[in-house]
Amino acid sequence: MTPSLRSLPSVDRMLADPRLAAEPRPLALAAARVALERAREAIRAGIDPGDPLELALAELAACRRPSLRRVLNATGVLVHTNLGRAPLAPLALERVAEIGGGYSNLEYDLDAGARGSRQDHLAGLVRRVTGAEGALVVNNNAAAVMLALAALAEGREVLVSRGELIEIGDGFRIPDVLTRSGARLVEVGTTNRTRIADYERAIGPETALLLRVHQSNFRVVGFAEQPRLADLAEAAHRHGLPLVDDLGSGALSDLGDEPTAASSLAAGADLVCFSGDKLLGGPQAGIVAGRAELVERLRRHPLQRALRADKLTLAALEGTLALALDPERARREIPVLRMLDEAPAAVRARADRLAALTGGEVEETVARVGGGALPLAELASFACALEEELSALLRTGEPPVVGIVRDGRLLLDVRALREDEIDEVAAAVAAARARDA
Ligand SMILES: *Cc1c(COP(=O)(O)O)cnc(C)c1O
Repeated sequence: MTPSLRSLPSVDRMLADPRLAAEPRPLALAAARVALERAREAIRAGIDPGDPLELALAELAACRRPSLRRVLNATGVLVHTNLGRAPLAPLALERVAEIGGGYSNLEYDLDAGARGSRQDHLAGLVRRVTGAEGALVVNNNAAAVMLALAALAEGREVLVSRGELIEIGDGFRIPDVLTRSGARLVEVGTTNRTRIADYERAIGPETALLLRVHQSNFRVVGFAEQPRLADLAEAAHRHGLPLVDDLGSGALSDLGDEPTAASSLAAGADLVCFSGDKLLGGPQAGIVAGRAELVERLRRHPLQRALRADKLTLAALEGTLALALDPERARREIPVLRMLDEAPAAVRARADRLAALTGGEVEETVARVGGGALPLAELASFACALEEELSALLRTGEPPVVGIVRDGRLLLDVRALREDEIDEVAAAVAAARARDA
């Protein structure tokens, strides 16, 4: 029998319960009101609402729970844009805790005892790993490209191949960024073929620079041609113009067909821009490296102040770049690089363990890098296949587990899961099944 509306307690009576009385009053009051409203709706619909006090306590717990939460990534996509891209290395996290937990010399020159620049802290490390003369860090790579164009080409023309007018995701389109920076886009060549002569024909008195954009998330195959970077740089320099190379992923060592910042600069690019949280495996950031005089123009531009990175980002990036100085250590300790490098047998062993713990079946899968990096790379991987009904229960559990539903089953790909996370996933599966029962 459903209780009547009159049987519901008053707000005051609910607030008098010690469990609600112990909470800050505005929070408790709001929770009690929401709980009573839900209870009334349920009763009107002929459903038993349960104990209103329990409803209020659940409401309180829900509003205390952070919105931004850790998720176990069982999708097999390593740099998953929706799941926070790159997990940080322990050393990067240590640096964040140390710098964020106290004061720092963020903008203070300890030797001079005077004001310093936040851009000085990482410039040396970036120079060392890229071979550049100068470097600068901003909030993300979109900001890096925007700042470079605004500082070097505002009110003037930027030449881009039609094969590189890309959209990266969530509406970030190169032509739009170019327009917003105040520069004018001049398209050269065709979608599949662009030659040096196409650029040279388009160069005029209004040209400020040549922009090359890494195709990131797609490749043109078949009857396709793009100039070699070294030839493009030579053409730009023949006309006294700089070449800016938007690398996107920011690989620091050789990874598939991703260009490294060092190789691009060595081939003649005057500035390179790349992300901190794709193949670099660090925090969200945009790094610009290249000729000192150009970097200095970016640093002095008013947008630099609006786009610069905060101290937590700089701390995490400094920790990540310190690891990158030693490629062997980077492969062991930077999670994205470790997951990329892991031998299939080790991945398989984790899938076997998860299957044994959950009663699932091991299945071969293909993991991807994601984040627009190495779009053609297929990483041999393994998943634990379970009943599809668990998908929503796992997503809404604690901690949430996100897998992929395919052919009526839930696949939990283990390539992006750490060894110790396997036990957490198994516990989450057990909890989800218990909730479902
Ligand atoms: C990813 C990417 C960007 C944007 O980088 P964010 O760090 O996401 O802002 C810009 N250009 C290219 C070529 C990219 O691949």
